[in-house]
Amino acid sequence: MTDGTRPEEPLADVPARSGRHAVVIGGGIAGVTAALALADAGVRVTLLEGRPRLGGLAFSFRRGDLTVDNGQHVYLRCCTAYRWFLDRIDGTALAPVQNRLDVPVLDVTKPEGRRLGRLRRDALPVPLHLGRSLAAYPHLSLADRVRVGRAALALKGLDLTDPALDEQDFGSWLAAHGQSARAVEALWDLVGVATLNAVAGDASLGLAAMVFKTGLLSDPGAADIGWARVPLGELHDRLARKALDSAGVRTEIRTRATSVSSNGNGGWSVQVPGEHLDADAVVLAVPQREAHDLLPDGALDAPQRLLGICTAPILNVHVVYDRTVLTRPFFTALGSPVQWVFDRTEASGLKEGQYLALSQSAAQDEIDTPVAVLRERYLPELERLLPRTRGAAVKDFFVTRERTATFAPAPGVGRLRPGARTKAPGLYLAGAWTATGWPATMESAVRSGVGAARAALGGLGRSRELLPDFLGEAA
Ligand SMILES: Cc1cc2nc3c(=O)[nH]c(=O)nc-3n(C[C@H](O)[C@H](O)[C@H](O)COP(=O)(O)OP(=O)(O)OC[C@H]3O[C@@H](n4cnc5c(N)ncnc54)[C@H](O)[C@@H]3O)c2cc1C
Repeated sequence: MTDGTRPEEPLADVPARSGRHAVVIGGGIAGVTAALALADAGVRVTLLEGRPRLGGLAFSFRRGDLTVDNGQHVYLRCCTAYRWFLDRIDGTALAPVQNRLDVPVLDVTKPEGRRLGRLRRDALPVPLHLGRSLAAYPHLSLADRVRVGRAALALKGLDLTDPALDEQDFGSWLAAHGQSARAVEALWDLVGVATLNAVAGDASLGLAAMVFKTGLLSDPGAADIGWARVPLGELHDRLARKALDSAGVRTEIRTRATSVSSNGNGGWSVQVPGEHLDADAVVLAVPQREAHDLLPDGALDAPQRLLGICTAPILNVHVVYDRTVLTRPFFTALGSPVQWVFDRTEASGLKEGQYLALSQSAAQDEIDTPVAVLRERYLPELERLLPRTRGAAVKDFFVTRERTATFAPAPGVGRLRPGARTKAPGLYLAGAWTATGWPATMESAVRSGVGAARAALGGLGRSRELLPDFLGEAA
């Protein structure tokens, strides 16, 4: 029941902190956030995580001398909640944001060779901050660039609170707004596939509009990209655990909750192998399918809707070369199956050569492809994109597959995503898949965790003053 760093003691024997006890089930980013927020508000908290580590879908593991992330993760400057989380766990300096949006886009569509373009921003007000970069973007014709500008302005005018947006697909909207197949490939999908984990035709217009409006059309710096310069586990496991410990949260890893039921005294009983925990409030911060299985009868009007929230895969291809083959921290590609490529050398602890991670989103077609086939496909692609790989030796090649990386942001998904409150008093939901308005991201996970803590504190009659307020909900 313990991770070996603490003396054995029964779970029920939690050090007294306040009269009210909350159990958070699930130690992903949403659960860690909820636990921290509740503890910060003075509630006694127990956090249960089934796996041997915290961090959920954003974690690291060892492979020989390398520390490998299960998948490259990035966030944007506009991710105020995740940035709060990084601050709260003392991790901001380890996952800095670039000074100014700058995305190298390498096009190998044409047989005559590679062409580099940049998506950059200037220090000008929105939407002029992108104007110069778009005007000079070599991967689109002049006519396409003008039409992209018009579509961006139309997107800016969409009302994100209109539920009808979620029923339409983004691809049809782009086509109706004059976007060519090339503009979709070279711009909209370039950003959209990585942030939504779906191509435009499979994505809800509501979610796509939210991403593009918030990221590209709200504040000039909103889309500046941040990413961890250390393994994800350093942030979401080690530093998160440290913050939880200092906040007085009792964290139990390798501890799966098997049921949640009423304890007959107006509270809840959470069953873990061998014993149960009594709680005044329970936050279920587990994936939607597990939440469906743990929710007691009557907690949601239509619990089967949770099962309608489908998932989408992300594949990461990892290649270690014997020498430096890429001189930028990352780039993205056009005209190649390669999507985004990140240099993970330093973060992984590699001492010689270079380690690249290829992040392949919306990977339905490749998620079950054997490693040998992926190797045959991706190494020649890297040779087309990065000439220096041609003489380099491949020291290691492996893949990580996350079949349920995100919820599928399909049209209509918004109706299925529940809020933090259930019909059962004292029982709350968190997770990137809940109704945060965001696609399945670390930002959504943190927002959901704070939202669940806010609802739980209200139910416990405790002050919510200390909670971060990302959306002005505090009132
Ligand atoms: C490869 C990949 C790349 C990604 N890239 C990005 C990116 O670039 N940017 C970004 O913002 N997001 C990205 N994401 C998405 C992001 O990782 C997730 O949205 C976020 O981590 C979800 O957090 P969560 O806490 O909601 O859920 P989860 O991480 O799923 O956490 C749920 C936790 O609950 C635990 N659990 C389940 N059942 C039980 C039980 N019965 N008892 C106890 N514990 C239980 C699980 O073990 C898990 O730890 C990516 C995801 C993947 C997989």
